[in-house]
Amino acid sequence: MIIQKTENSRLSEFDPNNFSFGSTFIDHMVICEYENGKWGDVKLVPYGPIPFTPAMMGVNYGQACFEGMKAYKDKDGQVFLFRPEKNFERINKSATRLAMPEVTEEMFLDGLKALVDIDRNWIPQGEGMSLYIRPLIFATEEALKARVANKYMFAIVATPAKSYYSEPVSVKISDHYSRAANGGVGSAKAAGNYAASFYPTQLAIEEGYEQIIWTDDATHEYFEESGTMNVFVRINDTIYTPPTSEKILDGVTRDSFIQLAKKRGIEVKIEPVAVKTVVEAQKNGTLKEVWGVGTAVVTTVFQALGYEGVKLELPRLSDDESYAAILKKDLTDLQNNLSDDSFGWRVVVEKDVLETV
Ligand SMILES: *Cc1c(COP(=O)(O)O)cnc(C)c1O
Repeated sequence: MIIQKTENSRLSEFDPNNFSFGSTFIDHMVICEYENGKWGDVKLVPYGPIPFTPAMMGVNYGQACFEGMKAYKDKDGQVFLFRPEKNFERINKSATRLAMPEVTEEMFLDGLKALVDIDRNWIPQGEGMSLYIRPLIFATEEALKARVANKYMFAIVATPAKSYYSEPVSVKISDHYSRAANGGVGSAKAAGNYAASFYPTQLAIEEGYEQIIWTDDATHEYFEESGTMNVFVRINDTIYTPPTSEKILDGVTRDSFIQLAKKRGIEVKIEPVAVKTVVEAQKNGTLKEVWGVGTAVVTTVFQALGYEGVKLELPRLSDDESYAAILKKDLTDLQNNLSDDSFGWRVVVEKDVLETV
């Protein structure tokens, strides 16, 4: 790894009590370029813009995918990643689906650890605080022929993230738009999936909702995901989530929730979730909770589901009664080194890892 430390750290301007998520970047970033069929040196360099041409293939044809993950700092200043090998596997799955080269473990995991280590002082400590990390791969070749590019960049950038309590939101069950289709790219973290979701989401917002529950493209009769999160439904004391597929992204938070729920003895059913079943459960009072899960905000709880023009209200449970709240706490306690890690999910970021990579 080639290391070029910044001479102009911006850390002294960073106020952990007052910053905006997603637009404050830590001092360094990782970059690596692919050319002539292979990846070059991994470089840890000062964060900043890179020059590009509008003829760059990544922006014209959308060969771009990313990951979202976090680093956490405990009260003693120890820093942890959470299940980073899952993100490593997933970025390569996404890259393969978009005909892009896979990244190596050295680029991804060592790059990640080196970056988090060098900028560990940027990681805010405390409940809900973390460093949000964004690894990405995109086509950089300057060419306008519609074909697979032969130059790429892998990069890792990161932004401090704070405790983010999101108020329960109203979501519209989609009856027209879809996020993914069989044979498509729904299970890849493709940048274009986000682009395609913005317009339907805007329309839902105009109708008075905050998000969309995506349903299957053929019939709109089955739940798939909510916004950019995996979805869970609780009927009586059983929780349901649809199986991952070509259309449903294999979320790390989803998988962690399933395992944490099972550990608590909560019944989890991984099976197709019919809109009709959820609507009926709401009507007969057995629908207790519906929520989305993802790395960024962990959970978003829904207060109402928009279906056929009607807002179906959900009960508001206390934190003691809510599986969403209980499992969120189980997960964040684990991530923040506040509980035993019986799953082996925490990965310590050693100090001065740079000496060894
Ligand atoms: C990233 C993402 C998720 C959540 O995945 P996590 O690994 O839990 O962060 C869920 N659905 C979609 C569509 C996503 O892009």
